[in-house]
Amino acid sequence: MTSGRDAFSALSDANDGLRPTRALIDLDVLATNVRRLKDLLSPSTTLMAVVKANAYGHGATTVARTTLSHGAAALAVATVDEGIELRDDGIDADILVLGPILASEIERALRHRLQLIAVSPATASYVSDAAHRLGLSWRPGLHVKLDSGLHRYGSDLETAIATARQIDQDHSLELAGVTTHFASADDPSAPVTDEQMSRFTAFVSTLAAERIAPRFRHVANSAATLRSPGFHLDMVRVGIALYGLAPSSHCPLPATVRPVMRLVSRVARIHALRPGDTVGYGQTFTADRPIRAALIPIGYGDGYRRALSSTAWMAVQKQRAPVLGRVSMDSTVIGVPDEVHLALEEEVLVFGDGSGGEPTVDDLARLTGTISYEVVCGLTARVPRIYIHDSVALPRETRGTPGQRFKVSS
Ligand SMILES: *Cc1c(COP(=O)(O)O)cnc(C)c1O
Repeated sequence: MTSGRDAFSALSDANDGLRPTRALIDLDVLATNVRRLKDLLSPSTTLMAVVKANAYGHGATTVARTTLSHGAAALAVATVDEGIELRDDGIDADILVLGPILASEIERALRHRLQLIAVSPATASYVSDAAHRLGLSWRPGLHVKLDSGLHRYGSDLETAIATARQIDQDHSLELAGVTTHFASADDPSAPVTDEQMSRFTAFVSTLAAERIAPRFRHVANSAATLRSPGFHLDMVRVGIALYGLAPSSHCPLPATVRPVMRLVSRVARIHALRPGDTVGYGQTFTADRPIRAALIPIGYGDGYRRALSSTAWMAVQKQRAPVLGRVSMDSTVIGVPDEVHLALEEEVLVFGDGSGGEPTVDDLARLTGTISYEVVCGLTARVPRIYIHDSVALPRETRGTPGQRFKVSS
């Protein structure tokens, strides 16, 4: 139909009965990203894949499985529910819940063998009591988190030491880790990172002097993993870089790490605008000459932000097609470049790696005053995730965002 078609276009032609607006998630790219990032680590450093928020919108279970088969050895999520979703889907690896949880969630977490953050001796006691109540035959793993300066989650030095001591002495618990999280690891000019690291080092030295040996010392997110081999320690917690997105403009990715997700849709209507015709709610676009417009069935109900109104573009046949007027909940209108002969149901690239003229995730983030993380996390459950492996869509049931399951056929 067009000259600019590639493997992805052919795949999204799959006659699978799903709506045309869909996220194509390339598991081969993801696998390469995991291996390249693993190459940055010494053999003794474990790669923990951060798959919170539905794997940054990419689909937690499928992403988790792929990362585990290509070099990741542990997973991290933000909530107990996210961990249970992975267990229900048969994932067996260590899963750490990064976020704060209610005391009332602890039993559920332990029944699903999730590791938890401990920020006080009281947390450790709760977990120990719950382990006894449940009659566990294994020791729940706890990670003691020092708040070294982010002032978000964690505990002060004294409390962190007391917590680690208590876990170490309690034979029903395992001190699976000691950890902290950086405030500005993506900014090389921020002195706070080194300050945080020296606070963490003091914490670890105090424990070592008491012969308390956590299984993993881990501090590095993607930015610290990319920038500072000295921060890798026993384990790194990598999120955004797995998905082929840079933590910030100061932290370039290795050249072979590529974006995993591409968002596509198809033309639903082509119509001629005469000079003076307006487009969309609020009539914010007026044609000043005869132009053709195309309706694309994507809107802020899919996570295509309303702030992209009149500023973003999509790509048709490798040409930029500007968004005309307002993005609405379910649809957006683009201007068809004069030289393009567009057909109904023809593919449109909404975002991708930029090679087809489409914006990148970073472009859309910049246009809406946010970061790439929020663009991919913001894709809603209405957008089917189509997994691509060996250049075919996977012919098996796979999981979208929580609450949605759909079938993908090849
Ligand atoms: C989200 C998160 C990460 C991963 O951060 P990226 O910048 O995506 O690599 C690591 N550690 C903690 C505690 C997090 O909350």
